[in-house]
Amino acid sequence: MDNIIIEQIINSAHHIYDKGMIIGKAGNISIIDDNREYIYITASGTDFKSLKYNDILKVKLDDLSYKSNDDKVPSMETNLHIGVYKNRNDINSVVHIHSPYATGFAFSNQKLRQQEGFGEITGEYIKEVDYFPPGSKTLAENASDALKNEDAIILKNHGIICIGKNIDEATLLSEYIEGIAKTQYITHVLNL
Ligand SMILES: [Zn+2]
Repeated sequence: MDNIIIEQIINSAHHIYDKGMIIGKAGNISIIDDNREYIYITASGTDFKSLKYNDILKVKLDDLSYKSNDDKVPSMETNLHIGVYKNRNDINSVVHIHSPYATGFAFSNQKLRQQEGFGEITGEYIKEVDYFPPGSKTLAENASDALKNEDAIILKNHGIICIGKNIDEATLLSEYIEGIAKTQYITHVLNL
């Protein structure tokens, strides 16, 4: 089981890298196991391009304990991922990235419109969460709260979080959000 889950995370990370959706070492991916007792999450400061088996840590949900590989520690956003899983029993994977176009919207005063192409349109814009420092308890609380009713959110001045019933859905949703951000960026430029 461990191997299959870890391989899925590695494949997602490599795909996200190949699509140019990762900047430096900023981003984290997790999957929760079927019993919802452990999450498998990328270690802090990992490079998605060369992500490998030892870069994924298995963290116990109830006490945050984990077995370290090569002194690695779980992503600084581990509490955020766990908060999402606690609020959403239907969700098995969380992807957080700072992809360039979507993050451009996060840093600008332009809102990202919801657009056809990925499930139901639930409102005019992709929901935004105010800025809280990366890794903070307040970010974890506010982001996991916003994801109670949304599958994708923008973190102001930071990046995006996408969730799904499996890692393929969460990864595809992050690619979709980056894609619509690119389309809308081009539209803004053409309209200048
Ligand atoms: Zn981040």
